[in-house]
Amino acid sequence: MKTTASKITVSLRALASSAAFGLAGLVWAVPASASGELTLYCSVQEEWCRPMALAFERETGIKVNMTRKSSGETLAQIKAEAANPRGDVWWGGTGDPHLQAAEEDLTAEYQSPMLAELQPWAVSQAEQSGFKTVGIYAGALGYSFNTEMLASTGAPEPACWSDLLREEFRDEVQVANPNSSGTSYTMVATLVQLMGEDAAFDYMKALHKNINQYTKSGAAPARAAATGESLIGITFQHDGVTQVVQGAPIKVVSPCEGTGYEIGSMSIIKGGPNPDNAKKWYDWALTPAAQEIGAAANSFQVPSNKAAKAPEEAPDLSSVKLIDYDFAKYGSSAERSRLLSKWDAEVGAAPK
Ligand code: PLP
Repeated sequence: MKTTASKITVSLRALASSAAFGLAGLVWAVPASASGELTLYCSVQEEWCRPMALAFERETGIKVNMTRKSSGETLAQIKAEAANPRGDVWWGGTGDPHLQAAEEDLTAEYQSPMLAELQPWAVSQAEQSGFKTVGIYAGALGYSFNTEMLASTGAPEPACWSDLLREEFRDEVQVANPNSSGTSYTMVATLVQLMGEDAAFDYMKALHKNINQYTKSGAAPARAAATGESLIGITFQHDGVTQVVQGAPIKVVSPCEGTGYEIGSMSIIKGGPNPDNAKKWYDWALTPAAQEIGAAANSFQVPSNKAAKAPEEAPDLSSVKLIDYDFAKYGSSAERSRLLSKWDAEVGAAPK
């Protein structure tokens, strides 16, 4: 992925057709005979976790015990369980905490035969971690605003990161807490790379005055913008698109200064109870059919298998001004922990 044009605003009309998407198109083979269990830690939206688990069960006969938690929370859980791992696979969530898990030896090396079918950015995620994680989708960071609420403020349409500091948006911006949410950590790391660390922390401290809530889950602010609970929600752009296709009066913005992106990832948990079933899930989750379940569940990331059909609604990453996100640095244990502690001390704990 590389840097190209500037801002994209996802058109409501172009997205309306996708309302036709549904789960009805998913047809799976007759269940195979039962062959054990798999404990899945899922870090995308529940609406996507469930059909994935169901499809795998139907295809293999393996019973899936699924828990949904945000990326940072899942990393914390895997760490807490390291002496007696309970999970088998961590599927989904931003790549940085998956890279941290690899560095901390919490996840197992596996070179799937499916690697040859993947986009270069997904393979590079695997190579970078010594094959302890792999890219499953990509998406760019941005924000959504509620067009009806904006009209009532009289403010012009926001288009840049800097616009979020406007006086009119006092208590009208929502973003997740970067400790629990991979999305929000991607924002912290993006701003540091885009502005330099001092300027980025000055920006986040100023933005803090406009924040109405730091949510646990990364995609929640897009839902809040859709329902009018918050004028603006900072999330991945595809999370905004999910709301647009459901008819919400919001627009999705790719900030004019440029933005970061995620390589959503998957890892096998080291020492998990069902290592063979974990590999079965891993190989299956990299197939085009499994990756296309995302769009059917209204999740519009770009899939990592080159043959998987990218949803029409997925924001076109080639038209987004993407930074050259340094995954090695910002996915390292030391840097992620340092930035989170600094955010807690200087931003999260600051008075409004
Ligand atoms: N849900 C979706 C649709 C995502 O794209 C991502 C990013 O990987 C997440 C959830 C991650 O959620 P969180 O920010 O809560 O860790």
